[in-house]
Amino acid sequence: MMKRLSLLIVCLICGVGNIRSWGFLAHRTIHQNACLAMPKPLFDFYKLHINYLIDHATDPDNRRYVVENEACKHFMDCDFYETTVPLDTVPKDYSEAVCLFSEDTVLKHGIVPWQCNKMIYWLKNAFQERNLQKILKVSADIGHYVADAHVPLHTSSNYNGQKTNQHGIHALWETRIPELFINQYPIYISEVEFLPNYSVEIWKSIEESFSLVPKVLLFEKLAKQVTPENARYQFVQKGTSVIKIESEQLIRNYERQLENMVLLRMKKSIQMVANTWYTAWIMAGEPELTNLDSSIPVDVPIENIENDLHR
Ligand SMILES: [Zn+2]
Repeated sequence: MMKRLSLLIVCLICGVGNIRSWGFLAHRTIHQNACLAMPKPLFDFYKLHINYLIDHATDPDNRRYVVENEACKHFMDCDFYETTVPLDTVPKDYSEAVCLFSEDTVLKHGIVPWQCNKMIYWLKNAFQERNLQKILKVSADIGHYVADAHVPLHTSSNYNGQKTNQHGIHALWETRIPELFINQYPIYISEVEFLPNYSVEIWKSIEESFSLVPKVLLFEKLAKQVTPENARYQFVQKGTSVIKIESEQLIRNYERQLENMVLLRMKKSIQMVANTWYTAWIMAGEPELTNLDSSIPVDVPIENIENDLHR
């Protein structure tokens, strides 16, 4: 009974189910560093609004249980497609993919690359309209999805190790490791670039993430092997409950096995988020970003922006 209760508690804190996302801290750090990496004159704009972009870095996760079809925007089950066709032949155009696989199938197995590719045009439109609220809302949201595309377990149907008896691996990789190591990570990125073939680039991110899944799974097993069984978990007080979480020793052993993989994926996330914002601005014709139209209230729902911009 105690064992079953522990498992339930671990499941709750690890977010088993449909939660697939970099942790809260990682998303905020990615947006913060992307803002600071922007070249001028975008640097001045993003630096001015850095607090908004940090605070709204996790908005898409917050609305995934209240907005229909939100959850599928955060992942893609590449292993599902690989059982049917080579991954690099999956259509980069959403309508073509729907024709080939059916919309139900595509939504069921996640749409993150198509979502990013759609939203870059929303961001371009928002820049062209010079509408501050839309630029900020869409920048925050696309930044979130682009970052998620860089997490290996967002590209596998075995996203929480449920198929390989590795329950909890999702939060271990993308939340617990960053929480413990983020202050030690030297975060710097290359120069921000315009990406003329954006859809090709975002699909590259997905394919890279997917290629890392076997290592993510294997190294967790190895980390457990080198951590004594009685030192793998610890119990901590959270509010009125006692919860079971992975021990610091196990997290450190896993991070060592991964050889900086989490850091490298975070850096690639920052680079791609910055490249995405910059590319949309170039596509928009490099509009000036001072004295912008800010007439739309900042709390306008993203669905309204979608209806307005998706034309
Ligand atoms: Zn997410």
